[in-house]
Amino acid sequence: MSQAPPLASQLDELKQRLRRFAAERDWERFHSPKNLAMALAAESGELAEHFRWQADAAVLPADALPPIEQELADVLIYLVRLADRLDVDLLGAVEHKMAIDLTRHPPQQT
Ligand SMILES: [Mg+2]
Repeated sequence: MSQAPPLASQLDELKQRLRRFAAERDWERFHSPKNLAMALAAESGELAEHFRWQADAAVLPADALPPIEQELADVLIYLVRLADRLDVDLLGAVEHKMAIDLTRHPPQQT
């Protein structure tokens, strides 16, 4: 049974695919960090829209998931593209931030 490639290589492949996608459409001129950050925020809003006014967001109608999956994908796409344009190692940044969070919020003693 083959294993999935490591997350870092999957993320790098996605970054390369998104670069090609933008370049093939001459969209790089629109992909300034500011524009990408705004697009990321907009897509996060589109994701949140699916949960607005939900009495219990943990219980969703069966047909609610596909559009939510699309918004999650949009968020990831813009996040990866923005990190690429800023030359940020996204997984490295996550590791760094989680280390900070571990010191800020230590596990509760039971
Ligand atoms: Mg969207």
